[in-house]
Amino acid sequence: MLDWKNCAIFATVMANLLFWFDNPSFPLLIAGPCSVESEEQLLCTARQLAQIPEVSLLRGGIWKPRTRPDAFEGRGEEGLVWLREAKHETGLPTATEVATPEHVELALKYDVDALWIGARTVVNPFSVQQLADALRGVDVPVFIKNPVAPDVKLWIGAFERFQKAGVTRLAAIHRGFQHYKETPYRNFPMWEIPIELNRIINVPVITDISHICGCRELLQQTAQKALDLATDGLMVECHCNPDAALTDARQQITPTELKNLLSNLVYRSKQSGMVERELADLRSEIDDIDSELLQLLSRRMDVSAQIGEYKKRNNVTVVQMDRWKKILAEHIATGTDLGLDAQLVAEVFEAIHQASIERQSRILED
Ligand code: PEP
Ligand code: MN
Repeated sequence: MLDWKNCAIFATVMANLLFWFDNPSFPLLIAGPCSVESEEQLLCTARQLAQIPEVSLLRGGIWKPRTRPDAFEGRGEEGLVWLREAKHETGLPTATEVATPEHVELALKYDVDALWIGARTVVNPFSVQQLADALRGVDVPVFIKNPVAPDVKLWIGAFERFQKAGVTRLAAIHRGFQHYKETPYRNFPMWEIPIELNRIINVPVITDISHICGCRELLQQTAQKALDLATDGLMVECHCNPDAALTDARQQITPTELKNLLSNLVYRSKQSGMVERELADLRSEIDDIDSELLQLLSRRMDVSAQIGEYKKRNNVTVVQMDRWKKILAEHIATGTDLGLDAQLVAEVFEAIHQASIERQSRILED
């Protein structure tokens, strides 16, 4: 049972959490172990986290979606007993991942205060619909992780299913995306995807730095980057003995390390209502440059179309691989001399070249 002191803490933290959904004016911090492993592990972690004032929600995985069978799949119902105990001992509201209607029913039975939908579940609209149906009439806060692939529409679809079921407190969790290229991250951040989600449906977005990074070393810089990009909160996996964790050991940190990480963060203002003169001038310069870029792009496309006409008349293929390889290498060299990032130059010209190919292909088809 919650004693009166923890009851007061719980009421305050919970009120803050509910307020945040309507007005995410401060970064919400969700922390706790990847998996609830034992009563001792959870309580020891929760007690330390409760000493960190920024922590608003204690996370703990009860059912773990594992890539291969025979791995630790979570403690199930007995873990919920410990999660509730941790809340009663610390006053921290709790959150867990649900993937089936049975999970929802059990989580609510044990008074879990917020739920999240995992990346592997969000990819399946049937599962998302079943979860939304299970929550009809129960207005518990729900966090929706991004699907494993960078598909904004699928992510939005999940929000719509919960909205239609009457869930009013919804937020997104950005945990990165599977990527075919080698990257230092476990899940490639693709920061533009949560920004696009937020632009279209305007929901608070939390950054799950643990699942993006996959290792402790990248957590600090990734948390800072998330704040710089105006994230509305962080999810961080914490364990009282991370090396001994049964899941995601490499990315979990101790509550003391979390405290340290938080103290090294620079918080910036999200307000652009009071834009200072200097910033306004620089922005106007950027607007002028963007406009020049657009005019140049349009001229380039016109010339590309003329080349398309030539190729059609003379029966020449649209793709000229030797020329493409040559100009790409030259542009990367020139761009790097100008202080630009090689990858940026490559991506910009790949996009322009692709658009050119499409334009010329249409001309050849006509
Ligand atoms: C988790 O948060 O423990 C988890 C399984 O994350 P994801 O769904 O992002 O893989
Ligand atoms: Mn995890």
